[in-house]
Formats: sequence, structure tokens, C-alpha cells
Amino acid sequence: MDRCLFCALVEGRVNANIVYQDDHVVAFKDIKPQAPVHLLLIPRKHLAGVLDIEPEDHALIGEIFQVASRLAREQGIADTGFRIVVNSGADAGQSVFHLHYHLIGGRLMTWPPG
Ligand code: AMP
Ligand code: ZN
Repeated sequence: MDRCLFCALVEGRVNANIVYQDDHVVAFKDIKPQAPVHLLLIPRKHLAGVLDIEPEDHALIGEIFQVASRLAREQGIADTGFRIVVNSGADAGQSVFHLHYHLIGGRLMTWPPG
């Protein structure tokens, strides 16, 4: 996807502070962090959002959660707690249309989210 920001990031055409990558998943620091730890985990494969996940992607989504757990431990937020958030569509404030999972932690969070 030529015009997709996160595809450009995956392809190295846009700079990012990458903390983890493998054949299927890339994780990097959010450019506008909302907490002491705020990472974005994305599949290398372009999917616009959760609505585009197909059965063939199920293993990939599982891998993303495995990476999230690993990074939560590495970042020191596994014991204190964290959130994994996916915004979908206008009401949720999705601004980048390449599936991404926010991994947020390192501070006390309120519920419900704003
Ligand atoms: P969302 O609003 O759920 O679509 O989340 C998009 C996230 O991408 C926001 O938290 C942005 O701060 C973040 N973001 C946008 N551009 C970049 C970038 N170039 N590098 C890292 N994070 C970015
Ligand atoms: Zn993309």
C-alpha cells in the first residue's frame, strides 16, 4: 500500500523507533506516547483494521499477542498492568488505517476510557 504510513514504516521508508521485529510483526514506540510505555504492534501485512481480519490471519493475530506479552515483560509493565487497545473507526478515533495494537502501561489508568 503506497500511501499507508505503517506500510512505509515496515518498508523502512519512514523512520521509527523499532523495539522488536520478526517476519510477521513489527513493534515501535508511538510518536505521541500517552503513557511511560506506549508501543504500537503491527502486522507487516497490510490490513486496514480489525474489520479486515480474515480466518487466514488468525495465527498472525495470535503472534501479535505473544509479542505483546513478551514486550510487556521486557518493558517492565507485566506485573503492574497494561492495556492492549485497538481503535476501530471514527468514534474510536482510529487515525491510521493499518491494523495496530497499542500496548500502553507504566501509569495508573482509568475506566471507562475517554
Ligand atoms: P490510532 O489513533 O488508534 O489510529 O493510533 C495511531 C497512532 O499512531 C497514534 O497513537 C499516533 O501517535 C501514532 N503514530 C502516527 N504516526 C506515527 C509514526 N510515524 N511513528 C510512530 N507512531 C505514529
Ligand atoms: Zn499498511
